Parts: sequence; structure tokens; C-alpha cells
Amino acid sequence: MFQKILIANRGEIALRILRAAKELGIKTVVVHSTADANAMHVRLADESVCIGPPPSRDSYLNIHQIVAACEITGADAVHPGYGFLAENAKFADILAAHNITFIGPSGDHIRIMGDKIEAKRTAKRLGIPVVPGSDGAVTDEKEAKRIAAEIGYPVIIKASAGGGGRGMKVARNEEDVVTALQTARSEAGAAFGDDAVYIEKYLEKPRHIEVQIFGDGAGAGIHLGERDCSLQRRHQKVWEEANSPALNEEERNRIGAICANAVADLGYSGAGTIEFLYEDGEFYFIEMNTRLQVEHTITEAITGIDLVHEQIRVASGGGLSIKQEDVRFQGHAIECRINAEDPRTFVPSPGTITHFHTPGGLGIRVDSGVYSGYKIPPYYDSLIGKLIVHGRNRVECMMRLRRALDEFVVDGVKTTLPLFRDLVGNIDIANGDYDIHWLEKHLAETE
Ligand code: ADP
Repeated sequence: MFQKILIANRGEIALRILRAAKELGIKTVVVHSTADANAMHVRLADESVCIGPPPSRDSYLNIHQIVAACEITGADAVHPGYGFLAENAKFADILAAHNITFIGPSGDHIRIMGDKIEAKRTAKRLGIPVVPGSDGAVTDEKEAKRIAAEIGYPVIIKASAGGGGRGMKVARNEEDVVTALQTARSEAGAAFGDDAVYIEKYLEKPRHIEVQIFGDGAGAGIHLGERDCSLQRRHQKVWEEANSPALNEEERNRIGAICANAVADLGYSGAGTIEFLYEDGEFYFIEMNTRLQVEHTITEAITGIDLVHEQIRVASGGGLSIKQEDVRFQGHAIECRINAEDPRTFVPSPGTITHFHTPGGLGIRVDSGVYSGYKIPPYYDSLIGKLIVHGRNRVECMMRLRRALDEFVVDGVKTTLPLFRDLVGNIDIANGDYDIHWLEKHLAETE
């Protein structure tokens, strides 16, 4: 097992990882920017190293500084959390070259999944169902029209290097395709420095369903069920649930087994998420995230498995602590992402939290690094906490969530809490009846 883990992240996830390391008896080092000197995880860590000024590129994305912090403190492993360097293959390679363990998959696996054309090709080869579309990059107008006609309109043109929902264009007819191809290519080139785009069928009203997987790096793979993350705004997840209200056990086991087998075949190591669009009973692969996700907590709630413990175990060569047949899904869990944002306009609301009171009681978990008097720096994302609620069934979970939201107090900044109070009382949400467009439509209707 590792002696000392360096946490290369900030905010709630840095605290989350610190807690797991402490429970495993491993010493912790955190790196932080000058803006985060007073953060909770910095106070709780065994050691901390300031690695630079507030802008991420000078601190949390500064690979040299992070490697130097490992050398100085003698850390033998790095947990990257999510965001920042979590899916940076070069970072994983550099750590390996310094004999420091990256708690995550190999640089090669990160690279494959980071290129969407390559990822889709790999998924298909591994037996994962994909969205019908072009086999690779498309550059030529004629070819684009031919492929679009073959798969049928509407189609979507997507950047191979894309991320965060950028570089995508929908085309509903032949004229659209020509302009969509040009704009998608120039946008992708400008945003990602790579103008490769591909075409796939555009699904009109899918749900976003993702499968949590784990590989031991030696040919074993398991799945921990799915999460439904259809409630999104501008492709950002807002509310997540496990299990999905739309799937039955047979579908869960079928897609789960496909994913677990694929991960085993790939020789993948650590945690990952295989994301699908789901429509009319069919799953369509869109991408794989080769890291821990924000919403991993709801999987923990329904399985009782600590995903960060498991990541650390696998990375240290200890293998998986559980076999597929030992995984049990119990009850229902929902996560609300509480952002310091205006609940109507979603404009970030940095500032000082004058009062912070979190709900408690059975089935409630709050993952947050903030406290009364905490000043939210304006440099990073606006997530200030996650409310995770577990119940024996979905109804109990929703009732518990409603009362937990009533107890939650955040004063001094605007938050998205009012949005969740609205959602928890909505009839479509109560029925689990929503797709990836539901939230934006709802927001437009209630404006
Ligand atoms: P990114 O990495 O930029 O988030 P994804 O491939 O994960 O890109 O897609 C992001 C979102 O775009 C999806 O959650 C979905 O809302 C939409 N999308 C992507 N592909 C399709 C498709 N074929 N049909 C309909 N919507 C799509």
C-alpha cells in the first residue's frame, strides 16, 4: 500500500479523497494555489504545498510544480480527482517516468478515450453499442451528405477532440449538413487545435445513462450499475439518480455486463464511466470518462462501496475488493449539485458564505469543503457542495430529499438550492419522466 498520497485537486473532491486516504491509514499531501490557502482540505491534510497563484494553469495544471511537490514530500502516489489533470495522459506518463503512481488508468487508455473517434472505434470493437454514424473523421461535403442520407436525418456533427458539449452541430437536412460541417470544423479547430469531426445520428429525446465500471488492470472488470444524469443544463449535469427510473433489472444487468466485459478485455485499470444515450430501449455509447466522477457518490450510496478506497487499492496493486456477484444494489439515491450561482440565470455568485448549515439524519450525506465564513474564490468552478440522499425506494428518497432541502441554509451568496426545491415538487420528476431536454424546457416555461 502507498505511504503517502498527494491530492492534485481542490474543493469538495480534494476533501473526499483526503477522507478516503485517512481511512486507509495513508498520509496525505495537498497542493493548493494561493487562493485556496484556507480551504478545509488544506487544514486537514498532513502536509500542504503552495504551488502557485490562483489561475489554474499556474497552479492546479502546472505539472512541473506538482511533480516537484511529490519529490519534496516523498509522496508515492497522486490522486487527480476530476477535472484539472485527471484525464491528461501526459501527466500520467510523466508520473510513471518518476516512479510515482497515478491513481487512474494508463496514459494509453486515457489517450484512446480522449479522442472520440478512436474511443468510438474501440467501444465498437469491444462489443459496446454505438450511435450509428461515420466510421471515422469526415472532411468532404459529398461524403458527409452521403453518410447523413444513409443514417437518416437529423444528424449531429461532433468534434473528435470535443469536450464540455462544445463543437457540436445538428443538421436536419442536406443544406444544413454543408454549413454544419464547416462551422463544426472551424469551431473545433479554434477550440481544441484539432478540426477532425465525425457524424452520427441525432437522437431527439434520449436519456443520459452512464455505467460505473472498475478494472483491476489484469483482465478483471466489474460494473456497479448505472446513473441517470438526464437533468442537464448546457450539457452540465444538475441532478443525478441511481438507479435510473427508466431501466429495469434485466436492462441494467445486460448493459452492465457488456461494459464489465469490455473493461476486462481492454485490461483497464481503476474507475471509469461509460456514457450512453438511451432511447426506446436502446443504448448508444457516446464517450468514456477515465476518472472518478462528481456523481460517484450515488453509486456509493446504493452499493455501499467506497469508490475512492477501491481506486487506491487497485492502483497500489491490491486488486478489486469485490466480485461482480457480491455487488448488491440497495434502494435509491439522488445527488443535487449545489452551485454558488443565481438559480435562474446560472451566473456564478462568488463571495463570502456568511452562514452554512447542512441537513442531517438517516440517509443524508453532504460532500462540501465550505464552512461559515468561507470566501468562494472567483477563479474556479461554482460547485460548493453535493447533497446526496439515500432511501429504501425512490419515493422515500424523494421525501427525504424534500425535507433535507428545507434544512439546508447557505447565506451570503446565491445558490441553486431554490431550483432543487422546485424540482423535488414537480410531477414529471416525481414520475421519473424526463429526458436530456426536460430541464431546459422547464426553465424556459417557468421563466
Ligand atoms: P462532451 O464530451 O462535449 O460532453 P458528449 O459526446 O458526451 O460530448 O455529448 C454531450 C451531450 O451532447 C450529450 O449528453 C447529449 O446531450 C448531446 N449529444 C451528443 N451526441 C448526441 C447524439 N448523437 N444525439 C443527441 N444528442 C447528442
